[in-house]
Amino acid sequence: MKFGALVALASVAVPGTAGAAALSDAIRSDMPELMALYRELHAHPELSMQEVWTPARLAPEMRKLGFDVTERVGKTGLVAVMSNGPGPVLMLRADMDALPVKEQTGLPFASTATGKLPDGTDTPVMHACGHDTHMASWLGTARRLAAMKDRWSGTLMMILQSGEETGEGAKAMLGDGLYARFPKPNYVLAFHDSAILSAGVVGVTPGYTTASVDNVDIKVRGVGGHGAAPQTTRDTVVLASRIVLALQTLVSREKNPLDPAVLTVGSIQAGSRPNVIPEEATLQITVRTYKPEVRKLLLDGIARIARGEAISAGVPDDRMPIITTREGQYTPATFNSEGFANRQLALFKGQFGAERTVVLPPHMVGEDVGRFWLDDKSIQGTLFWVGGVPKAKWDAVNGGLGKLPSLHSPYWAPDAEAVISTATEAMTVASLDVLKKGS
Ligand SMILES: [Zn+2]
Ligand SMILES: [Zn+2]
Repeated sequence: MKFGALVALASVAVPGTAGAAALSDAIRSDMPELMALYRELHAHPELSMQEVWTPARLAPEMRKLGFDVTERVGKTGLVAVMSNGPGPVLMLRADMDALPVKEQTGLPFASTATGKLPDGTDTPVMHACGHDTHMASWLGTARRLAAMKDRWSGTLMMILQSGEETGEGAKAMLGDGLYARFPKPNYVLAFHDSAILSAGVVGVTPGYTTASVDNVDIKVRGVGGHGAAPQTTRDTVVLASRIVLALQTLVSREKNPLDPAVLTVGSIQAGSRPNVIPEEATLQITVRTYKPEVRKLLLDGIARIARGEAISAGVPDDRMPIITTREGQYTPATFNSEGFANRQLALFKGQFGAERTVVLPPHMVGEDVGRFWLDDKSIQGTLFWVGGVPKAKWDAVNGGLGKLPSLHSPYWAPDAEAVISTATEAMTVASLDVLKKGS
């Protein structure tokens, strides 16, 4: 799929009835090609930090638009810069990675791709988080802003980030000199598709928007043996089960109920036969919080409970559980700079109307985009949400969101047309506002 001629805008594309309509029209004419790109990306998902085909597919498109493109920043990331006179530096970020999920959407362009997990295991792969919609909108925004170079002044830096799902990508790009080799931004903007908003609705959360993420592994060790002779063993499966249940009391009994936190055991692996008590069991846990002290309470509590349950099960001292926090996958909470986020809120209301623009409460999901402005107070950043739940499904459940697939579900099939057109419009309007001439 190749892009055709750029469509120039006839009027000023800033909020206001005429400008808003002209921008919507221009994006509408881009949509057939952006949807074709979306379907192509959807059919070619790649796992975190293994994105090779994806940036190679998009790099030439950006070069054609006049961006200076650098590939392999932070392993697989891509940086595209367009310098267009004096003014601020604005960074727009889209993430590229997919998930080890077997797609069940039944879409005609559903993924049949497979990949390899870091441990070498084969797995089906799917864009179950909608990062394919992010990339299509990212290119749509690049097209619009390249076509309207006479309407803005400053530096536009557009990045494709690797490894969002594992929390590795933003750190890898920053560690590879993102702000030394390329202009350091004054502003950063990103969006994520949303499974809790109706298609085409935009949500902004000033202040904290996504939680911190820690992934913890517990290797539970017992004494293996015959399934018919449990008295000769220390049963790891029973012990692992006790640990899973006891861990839930950290959230329900030990922390202040007014402090948000989630502890989910997402994986239990043990044994291979009905009649063998295994030597080991492995638990994989994700911990989500906002406050550092709550994070510490949960991480310390996991170690204490695992050890305490092992002692109560009579596990020998030299077989105590081994707890490993995956340091490389820690993701800090994302804090949307309040003034900047409120500026987006006002802009989006002007562009889309109040009925399509909402203030969202914070989420317990994680996003590593906040790293791009976390440690430098001179940078303002906002991550906003664009609704992807198809309108008919939204109306059918009448607010019962539990009946709809969430992000990461094998059934997540957003209304991609609504997400991509809305996000392209939102990103373009926000960029023109930041980079407006004479600002
Ligand atoms: Zn995700
Ligand atoms: Zn995501």
